[in-house]
Amino acid sequence: MKKYLPYGRQSITNKDISSVKKILKSDFLTTGPTIKLFEKSLSKFCRSKFAVAVNSATSALHIACLSLGIKKGDIVWTSPISFVASANCAIYCGAKIDFVDIDINSFNISIENLKKKLILAKKGNKLPKVIIPVHLAGYSCEMKEIYSLSKKYGFKIIEDASHGIGGIYNKMKIGSCYYSDIAIFSFHPVKIITSGEGGVAMTNNKKLMEKMKLFREHGINKNFNTNKKPWYYQQQDLGFNYRMSDIHAALGLSQLKKINKFIKRRNLISKYYKSKLKNLPITFQETKKNIYSTFHLFLILVPKLLHLDIFKFLRKHKILINLHYIPIFLHPFYSKKNLFKIKDYPNSINYYNRAISLPIFYDLKKKDQDKVINLIQKYFKKNN
Ligand SMILES: *Cc1c(COP(=O)(O)O)cnc(C)c1O
Repeated sequence: MKKYLPYGRQSITNKDISSVKKILKSDFLTTGPTIKLFEKSLSKFCRSKFAVAVNSATSALHIACLSLGIKKGDIVWTSPISFVASANCAIYCGAKIDFVDIDINSFNISIENLKKKLILAKKGNKLPKVIIPVHLAGYSCEMKEIYSLSKKYGFKIIEDASHGIGGIYNKMKIGSCYYSDIAIFSFHPVKIITSGEGGVAMTNNKKLMEKMKLFREHGINKNFNTNKKPWYYQQQDLGFNYRMSDIHAALGLSQLKKINKFIKRRNLISKYYKSKLKNLPITFQETKKNIYSTFHLFLILVPKLLHLDIFKFLRKHKILINLHYIPIFLHPFYSKKNLFKIKDYPNSINYYNRAISLPIFYDLKKKDQDKVINLIQKYFKKNN
């Protein structure tokens, strides 16, 4: 193996390429019919009423927060084990972010910790307006429990399902928004399906959909009776240009047709890793009968004392393993104000000291996966 083996990468076929080419020769490179078709197909796939396609999941998180009225003084909670965008979206709106420690088995927000934190917050009059659960690796959070807490404490829910398109929870697709107000997906090339760059916000709430569309397009509303003034439109709020182009949508649409095949393969790769690594001192993300993971990531926890050494060992052998993620509150932007105490997040710190993402993607070759497995087995033989 001469090249580095990445932890994830896109799978693009000639069909994908020709569907993009077709758009390049058509009348609409943007704001055309392909966006609407992509949105409709996503809604149909997830069984949500609406989909608002945008240029990234980060933009989707931003307009999701805005549509729920997040503003200065509000409080938003998310998981510390996520990409920084899960927290940044609240900061964009001037809100305060706080973190709920993860569960050490699911690696997602812990329901027990969430309950405790809500009781304290209620006493201190500091309840969150929105909670953003993150389905790490495409393994759904306990949404039913989070939903019932949202009714008790009066917060809204945005699912950061950047990893989760095609995942299933209690027989329902992630993105159906059965237990949430909004769910967002990412179409970045390392994710389950790609549009190059891109994202989408799913919802069943017409008002939220309309608001998100407004924020996506400068805050401009063009839907007026224009009989008298055919040129008329209004900027009603301060929005952005977060549109997805039809070029990107064409790629996303073409990829969406293959999503079940993609996820099946990721599940098979995971099964094979588990069968070969299960006798080593390695912990996997839990599995439950009511949750079908997309396996956007294949996460393992190794002994803390060997973590750095294993990392270096695999990197030396050109396996580009990664760590998803550094707890968000450890980044200087978040830690500099000393708002977060490490002792409040024992599970996230434990996870951070032990986690590794192994290569997993649709086109991963068996011989490359075997190479990763053999290296890890060899490492533990030498170091036990
Ligand atoms: C990738 C990712 C994002 C951001 O997605 P973009 O489309 O790159 O903006 C947000 N949250 C999580 C958990 C992610 O993995």
